[in-house]
Amino acid sequence: MTSEVTTRTDTSTGDPTASDMDGLRERYRYERDRRIRADGTAQYRATTGEFGYYADDPWSSATERAARTDHVDALVVGGGFGGLTAAARLRDAGLERIRIVDTAGDVGGTWYWNRYPGIACDIESSIYLPMLEEIGTMPSRKYPPGEEIRGHARAIAERFDLYRDALFGTGITSLAWDDDAGHWRVRTDRGDDMSARYVVVSSGPFNRPKLPGIPGIEDFTGHTFHTSRWDFGWTGGDATGGLDRIGGKRIAVIGTGATAIQCVPHLAEGAEHLYVVQRTPSAVDTRDDAPYDERWWTSLQPGWQRRRREDFLHRMNMHPPLLGDDDGVADRWTDTAPIRGVRRYARTRDTESLAEALEIADAEKMDELRARVDAVVEDPATAAALKPWYRQMCKRPTFSDRYLQAFNRENVTLLDTGGQGVERITADALVVGGTEYPVDAIVFATGFELGADPATRAGADVRGRDGLPLARRWSDGLHTLHGWVSRGFPNLFHVGALQNSASVNFAHVLEEQASHIAAVVGEAGRRGASVVEPSAESEDAWVATIRERAVDQQGFLAECTPGYYNFEGRPRKRNEQFGGGPVEFHEVLRSWRDGGMSDVLGEGAR
Ligand code: NDP
Repeated sequence: MTSEVTTRTDTSTGDPTASDMDGLRERYRYERDRRIRADGTAQYRATTGEFGYYADDPWSSATERAARTDHVDALVVGGGFGGLTAAARLRDAGLERIRIVDTAGDVGGTWYWNRYPGIACDIESSIYLPMLEEIGTMPSRKYPPGEEIRGHARAIAERFDLYRDALFGTGITSLAWDDDAGHWRVRTDRGDDMSARYVVVSSGPFNRPKLPGIPGIEDFTGHTFHTSRWDFGWTGGDATGGLDRIGGKRIAVIGTGATAIQCVPHLAEGAEHLYVVQRTPSAVDTRDDAPYDERWWTSLQPGWQRRRREDFLHRMNMHPPLLGDDDGVADRWTDTAPIRGVRRYARTRDTESLAEALEIADAEKMDELRARVDAVVEDPATAAALKPWYRQMCKRPTFSDRYLQAFNRENVTLLDTGGQGVERITADALVVGGTEYPVDAIVFATGFELGADPATRAGADVRGRDGLPLARRWSDGLHTLHGWVSRGFPNLFHVGALQNSASVNFAHVLEEQASHIAAVVGEAGRRGASVVEPSAESEDAWVATIRERAVDQQGFLAECTPGYYNFEGRPRKRNEQFGGGPVEFHEVLRSWRDGGMSDVLGEGAR
């Protein structure tokens, strides 16, 4: 314990604080235990059937077109930032025909589907938006609004001429490797039967919305929608707010994650009455958004985006910063509990273990966030219910200067369910704690299906050499070289979080993967290599590295309140990430490329 912490309990509230670690642990355990459910991840239901949001595209209507039977150099599954940057870098590598295929009506991925009021990214514009320097756009503000992000995705597609061959409103149904022809045969739900020399799969982690399996959900006769398919026809307004059609409506929003944090203030402004239904409160830090300063922007020296991105990656992954605080991103992400813990450990390593330093720093950070709730929310009972009782990285950190404030409005009620969720839904009401709350509409801010089998996530049947299904090849765990390519599946590349290393600035690591794939494809072209496929030795060696370097997060996650980070309280290994973190992983890729790539391009590769 240090002198920085002086009280054991907050005397005004009786809550345990950082100086009473036992009390705090006990409280965290209590909050976790009362939320653990026997049905775990099975508690959710898919957005199919009468809740067919998954198949709905509110933003574009399907256009008739003839089925395609042509050949392309590269087919990219998914037009989000992973697929877009892969396509753009493949264009740089000299490929002529590049076809993005997406179920959406345009590029943008998660930013295409999610247009709810208040949508914005909470990673700084300068490091989140890919290829900013190349495209030459100055973002309007520190945290980019969703519309601006979507506009940027379109600008990338235009700059690299990716619309020419793209197919939107189209889902891939099967990918089959034809060894004689040396290409992939690709079929879709629009009757296309095409071929592609290379296929890149980048289907994204948040592509399937999910709903809570609340008893009676089908009986509700009022209006419903999921936040990723926002019904502006019903609410009025747009992604910037101004919901002018809900003035006489009583609305319930179910869920209080990162999405709800952003849309609740807008619903609160427009609705006659808003019920925010909470199972577990988010930890809400300050946001401090502001317009970008043009003088600062124009003073940035060439190569700035790579430098800032690398610096952020270093800061977020326990490496010394590359830039000073005035030049790099120094925001609330760089002040999250683990970062503070590592800084603390640098001072206290003679007296504390790293685990102790991390836990104390976490407790102090969460004390601050809980104190912020008291400072902002006027009603003490509401404030008490909005306080998060878990370690900060148990759930996704959130940042808002408007969410907690919304609970000071007369027309907003927090329906805290004591961790139990909604009891029942009737034809016209929610039942929480035995009380019925009549509502006209329910907005589901209940997130996305995670943990789907990576082999089938894109929704396609993938078969490699000799018709081997990818799902079978990976049935005992993933087998890849560096996460992007797998033996038996030549010229098929994966972009996403598979046996590599992710980061909170996901757009950055996706672009690294995209550039890597394009560099190998470019080299394959120069050498006249017919296939890109790892040798058995090289793939086995990487799988062994993944196992050896695995960081066991399961102990930490088992102590957490349930959520998608820990598979609703039953942590299991997720895709087996590289334990060395993204900074080292990018170095692994660089030195592998410098090593000549012979284990994927050489004769020995097959
Ligand atoms: P989440 O999965 O994070 O949140 C779902 C919410 O629904 C949780 O609060 C959950 O409670 C609640 N919930 C689920 N079932 C019930 C139930 N039966 N009764 C009451 N509440 C229930 O989804 P989000 O859409 O908020 O966020 C998904 C991800 O999208 C984020 O984690 C983030 O990675 C990304 N995102 C990123 C943003 C950015 O700025 N970059 C902005 C928005 C989202 P409980 O916690 O108890 O399970």
